[in-house]
Amino acid sequence: MTPLETILKAQKNSKVIDASIPYQLYQPLDLSISNTDLLVLKNADEYEEYINTYLKQKNAKVAFGGYKEFRNLYKRSSIFNELDLEERNIHIGMDLWIKEGTPVLAPLDGTVHSFDYNVGLGNYGPTIILKHEIDDINFHTLYGHLSIESIETLKIGTEFKSGEPIGTLGDASVNGDYAPHLHFQIIEDMGDYFGDYPGVSSQNDLDSYLQNCPDPNLLLKINEL
Ligand SMILES: [Zn+2]
Repeated sequence: MTPLETILKAQKNSKVIDASIPYQLYQPLDLSISNTDLLVLKNADEYEEYINTYLKQKNAKVAFGGYKEFRNLYKRSSIFNELDLEERNIHIGMDLWIKEGTPVLAPLDGTVHSFDYNVGLGNYGPTIILKHEIDDINFHTLYGHLSIESIETLKIGTEFKSGEPIGTLGDASVNGDYAPHLHFQIIEDMGDYFGDYPGVSSQNDLDSYLQNCPDPNLLLKINEL
């Protein structure tokens, strides 16, 4: 385990979605190429309906998953399929699927590193990146697919305490045309990225991205019910 992974694992009560929803009401969701139910879904509305039906069946409120998941859903967008570059189709954050307007929380004390409105089909839409320092280790957390209001008056350097709301989830009209969800990713080294960082990797780059982006569930601990 890396020093950052050890730190993430040691944190307690770290949540990124509406703290009034207990983890008992979270349900894993498979969006990998092996889920053939997805083949018929044509747009964000149909994904949203699929996820809502799934949550109702399971008596759950939040569907989650996606770290290291190999997905077909990026084929629709040119940002994952650039000319002469290897296709990007492996998701390296965690997605939490719940309705638009849901509060997004800082899971740890942090300050705003950067934010941006990443426009375009399949992109993040409004995005916030926080930076954190624990036991002399610096790292970052990224929140994608937020509402416009989340970044309207935000300032770089703004401090957030653990558990404090940093924004709300956006809908398909602003979030890159997805069913509403939070893309949450932990990033050790941001390099030169500002308000953005890849959330999907190609097979060739996967090892280096996974090294820089540990499993978000080390921090969130959703499976440890
Ligand atoms: Zn995602």
